[in-house]
Amino acid sequence: MQKIDCNSYNVIVNEDYSILHNFIDEYNPSKLFIIVDENTKRDCLPILIQKIDHPHILIEITSGEIHKSIDTATALWEALINYGADRSSLVLNLGGGVIGDMGGFVAASYMRGIPFIQIPTTLLSQVDASVGGKLGIDFKGYKNMVGLFQNPDLVWVDTNYLKTLSARELKSGFAEVIKHGLIQSKTLWSFIKDRALDYNDQEWNDIVFDSIKIKNTVVSQDPRESGLRKILNFGHTIGHAVESYYLETDKQLTHGEAIAIGMICESYLSHKKGLLSTSALKEIESFIRKIYNFDPAIQINQKRIIEYMTNDKKNKGGQILFSLIDGIGSCTYNIEIGKEAIIEGLDYF
Ligand code: NAD
Repeated sequence: MQKIDCNSYNVIVNEDYSILHNFIDEYNPSKLFIIVDENTKRDCLPILIQKIDHPHILIEITSGEIHKSIDTATALWEALINYGADRSSLVLNLGGGVIGDMGGFVAASYMRGIPFIQIPTTLLSQVDASVGGKLGIDFKGYKNMVGLFQNPDLVWVDTNYLKTLSARELKSGFAEVIKHGLIQSKTLWSFIKDRALDYNDQEWNDIVFDSIKIKNTVVSQDPRESGLRKILNFGHTIGHAVESYYLETDKQLTHGEAIAIGMICESYLSHKKGLLSTSALKEIESFIRKIYNFDPAIQINQKRIIEYMTNDKKNKGGQILFSLIDGIGSCTYNIEIGKEAIIEGLDYF
């Protein structure tokens, strides 16, 4: 079975739905709730309810990060109350990271916590958000400002859901696969580095499975991000600042595109620190550029990006700390980099 043991729960990848069916049977929930948005209702729900025939109550929210909010969370808590959810009810979150984070947060806080199963349907939510127990909502313009750590009862991953994702969403999630290879697995990197997302079903299964395994290995050693888990931030110190800056503008950049830019800049910083050879830097850069084919019009406002980085909640004592790769497949963390070098990294991109 393609199963990853995450201590208190399992992530099951591409298995027969009878396992999920039996899991729900064993819970014997008083009521089963499925949370969807309009896209996962259209594209993913038909696959799910063909396989599990338990009576359920569907709760639909509107898609989009803007709805990962206290208002939607309130609407979800209200729906659970109105439909009579109790402590033995079970919630299935069928969607991308927005539904997973928010539906999980709502379930984990409703009546001090009711069981929930994550069924991630985007590549990003499968390889990243599915493991690690981070739940929450955005608040007052700050991403993931209110939330908690709580593991789900099960994560059910089916890569067939990826087939209805737009190419742009697929590439967005792929940035985390690239990151997992760069920080922990030369094998994964070697497998993906000469391809162009033209994988067959089995290859997608393997990529998703390996990627989840890497994330789980890291978070299980450091669930609260006091040390090693920081390596998952490779590409994200600059990437998050770029993402936040773009949110201010009327132009669009996906999370993965921002992280891909961040990985190029932070690979350069790794090189500048003497951790990464020139040939490895070139190898990483040319692959990322090939996959993302960045719009030449992408503007990086260095001043704003430095401001965002200075205010990052991960900083300590005003220093901007980085996770940098010391060779492909290995990463180190808590490296302080000065603003001038950061600007050089941005210039390099
Ligand atoms: P998302 O949930 O907004 O999904 C992206 C879009 O794809 C949405 O429009 C959605 O309706 C649609 N969609 C989802 N599955 C589909 C499918 N199978 N077919 C067609 N359309 C589909 O975004 P995302 O990229 O999945 O996740 C981003 C969120 O995840 C952010 O809020 C981020 O903070 C969070 N996140 C959390 C963690 C964590 O550890 N908890 C990690 C990474 C990201």
